[in-house]
Amino acid sequence: MKNCIFCKITNKEIPADIIFENEDLMVFKDASPSAPIHYLIVPKEHIQSIAHLENNHKEILSKLIYIAKEEAKKINLKGYKLIFNVGKDGGQVIDHLHLHLLGGWNNK
Ligand code: 5GP
Ligand code: ZN
Repeated sequence: MKNCIFCKITNKEIPADIIFENEDLMVFKDASPSAPIHYLIVPKEHIQSIAHLENNHKEILSKLIYIAKEEAKKINLKGYKLIFNVGKDGGQVIDHLHLHLLGGWNNK
């Protein structure tokens, strides 16, 4: 979607510190991390938020969570938080669905 920063990142129009990518999604580091490890797991399709999910988005939603688990495992995180902020009142600033993976407090 035009003027969407996460569409620009997934289209590689602007740079990010990319951790993983496949045809459906991209994982990159949060530019202002809130934890020692702070990744964003982002579908390539522009979906505004959890509140905008349609029935046909169920598969991508489970892929986001599965990849979060995989990436956490790769860097040996024993515990972590997975967070979706939903809507302005839920703290969502970027209107392109994304899953926060936060961890690493005990790994440093
Ligand atoms: P939200 O509050 O929408 O759930 O989270 C958006 C997140 O995106 C924030 O944690 C913020 O630091 C991160 N962010 C915003 N702009 C950029 C950017 O241009 N690049 C990267 N890598 N992260 C960003
Ligand atoms: Zn977008």
